[in-house]
Amino acid sequence: MAGQASKSSAIPGWYADGLEHIWLPYAQMKTVPPPLPVVRTYGARIMLADGRELIDGIASWWTACHGYNHSHIRQAVEAQLARVPHVMFGGLVHEQALTLARRLASLLPGDLRRVFFSDSGSVAVEVAMKMAVQYWINTGKPKKTKFVAFKHSYHGDTQGAMSVTDPAIGIHDVFREAYPHHTIIDIGREPEPDLTSLARFLERQAGEYAGIIVEPLVQGAGGMIFRSEKLLRSLRQLADGADQILIFDEIFTGFGRTGTLFAYEQAGTSPDVITLSKALTGGTLPLAATVATRKVFDAFWSDDPKTALMHGPTYMANALACAAANASLDLFEREPRMRQVADISIALERGLAPCRDLPRVKEVRVKGAIGAVELDRIDDLDRLRARFVEQGVFVRPIGNIIYLTPAFTISSDELTTLTGTIVKTVRELKQ
Ligand code: PMP
Repeated sequence: MAGQASKSSAIPGWYADGLEHIWLPYAQMKTVPPPLPVVRTYGARIMLADGRELIDGIASWWTACHGYNHSHIRQAVEAQLARVPHVMFGGLVHEQALTLARRLASLLPGDLRRVFFSDSGSVAVEVAMKMAVQYWINTGKPKKTKFVAFKHSYHGDTQGAMSVTDPAIGIHDVFREAYPHHTIIDIGREPEPDLTSLARFLERQAGEYAGIIVEPLVQGAGGMIFRSEKLLRSLRQLADGADQILIFDEIFTGFGRTGTLFAYEQAGTSPDVITLSKALTGGTLPLAATVATRKVFDAFWSDDPKTALMHGPTYMANALACAAANASLDLFEREPRMRQVADISIALERGLAPCRDLPRVKEVRVKGAIGAVELDRIDDLDRLRARFVEQGVFVRPIGNIIYLTPAFTISSDELTTLTGTIVKTVRELKQ
């Protein structure tokens, strides 16, 4: 690992001793810069072992929407820890999971009624894909097994989720030949998508296809690419006309990020299945949900054990995670989260606007609490990330995009520092 950590008073023993045994995400271990040792978090701040404090622009991969260490979530988790930390979900249930399922079903517009819990976004996508395929098996169309997904899509790192992720975004390229091939459709980057090729494709091949999976309004890891509400309405129409289960992956966009509690609300349409995770627990514990409509669920409801959904992660509906998620939903009810998102949107627009005049910038775009500066290229991603840390902010560009997805509770001063640092840093970039 580049720049191996040496023992000094600023570097805790656990860091130097443990680093030799850890395998980091998305990283060439030989060349990856040493990760930063974190000793505390609060609000929108990350404290490092050497005493430095960073303003967090990412909210830990888009999860910590209420800021770190919110006392309401902490108290809920502590109380649950004393009662029931976890029980298996086979044959047993508990109050937190059933309450959370009821609350999610009532918050989700449309007929989304049945909640299947799992422990990560990728697994929630696997479950959604299994629901779609088995829906058709159970209704007498077993040949419908494939999926349509979109260029720039990202749906996770497990096998099924990878196979509906655009290999061109580079994360899973190496596995291209190893896993099932689904169809990745390019609908261009225009505000008004051209779906004629998808419509023609489905006319010919709908008989082999179980469903369509899409990230509503914003394709996140694929480059913070914004999509129209109309796309979702058109996909709904196409899915209905071609017998496809329509899956909305709101793992990134869910829980306020785009300006409404769920992004698809803005489109006035709804999916057959939705996947949720990330901000579900306010960034505290791993939890995901795959929620199905009555229509999908009814196809599994019979006296025949073979039509049952055979999936059940060991830590499914973990009681601590469900308690955190219920507490997170309380905060959406009690605190002015959606107003905060609207304010962040205005501040991002204003703060990032000067980037538009800089030579290396292709586009600046803002939706809800997401701000993205698209550059022509980033020559040295590690160097750029380090440059942000040097200036006291945690910003982690992906591909050629510098983006902000802060906690909704971030202060306006902190946000101004984040946007100002981005403008300054982009200005420093060589032509
Ligand atoms: N879908 C989307 C839209 C995501 O953004 C992500 C995570 N970045 C996932 C699925 C996978 O979630 P996880 O990392 O929790 O497996």
